[in-house]
Amino acid sequence: MTAVEPQPLHGKVALITGAGRPRGIGRAAAVELARSGADVIVTDIARPGPRIAGLPTVAEDEAGLIEAVEEIRELGRRSAWFPLDVTDATEVLDVVDSVASEFGGINILFNNAGTPVGVKPFLDLSNDDWRTSWDVHVMGMVYTCRAAIPLMRQRGGGVIINNSSASGLQALPGYAAYTATKHAVIGLTKTIALEFGVDNIRAVSICPGDIDTDMTDIGMALAVEYFGADPDHQESLAPIDAIALRRRGEAEDVGKVVAWLASDAASYVNGNSMLIDGALMEGL
Ligand code: NDP
Repeated sequence: MTAVEPQPLHGKVALITGAGRPRGIGRAAAVELARSGADVIVTDIARPGPRIAGLPTVAEDEAGLIEAVEEIRELGRRSAWFPLDVTDATEVLDVVDSVASEFGGINILFNNAGTPVGVKPFLDLSNDDWRTSWDVHVMGMVYTCRAAIPLMRQRGGGVIINNSSASGLQALPGYAAYTATKHAVIGLTKTIALEFGVDNIRAVSICPGDIDTDMTDIGMALAVEYFGADPDHQESLAPIDAIALRRRGEAEDVGKVVAWLASDAASYVNGNSMLIDGALMEGL
């Protein structure tokens, strides 16, 4: 009889933000983490209604979260969902407390919530656009890290994976708020890695390229609205020819990397930024 390998994340508890959309990276990561043996808690802003003027909310986050929980449970893992607006520090603390009491702590934090708000020419960006982008991408991570790190310390360590973007390493005209705040994510992640390595907490940024999700569709619709982007390229942020692998990324391409980074297979990967972009020409 051959011995069954233990699952790499068996006994670990993972918390994910922005996991409400069925096509999103958060959902894909939730499934991959569960497949690797983790119990997974999924959260999202989960408030119905359009959040970007003129563009419908493609999915009701709550339904997406419930569906994700069912999928995780079918994989034999424990799961729960919470509505969580990452820009609300009190709400973050409440959710982290609930997770700690129901699941015993947090080992893996995947900061994934994101917004395409602010895809506009620089001179058209309002103060509110800047604030929203900063609050969701940066302060949201500050709040969740501040709440989760003490719990990770109690459990002897943990892993924080912050979803930046290829735009966290390079710039795209028309994406000033997105680019600046995603660069900030990388700086924040490096600092957390340096401060908490001594507690056996690793922190890594991931930098996806052009991934086929609702958010890319919304970002593209905004680019068409504001810049009259080429309708032939509406389905993609980058021409396929500019991607070495000649295909757009799928959320699962990113989810698998998240599960690997969360595991001990990546035990010496810390503080860095990992491109997941199929080799986008301008990024190399
Ligand atoms: P999704 O289509 O899954 O959208 C992101 C999710 O975050 C949505 O469910 C959104 O809710 C949620 N969200 C927005 N604001 C908040 C908030 N204040 N609190 C909690 N949740 C919130 O996006 P992707 O899967 O495409 O992106 C996930 C992450 O990956 C983002 O951080 C994005 O910047 C990053 N990324 C994506 C790339 C891509 O090509 N898709 C490339 C590089 C990085 P709702 O939509 O209902 O507002």
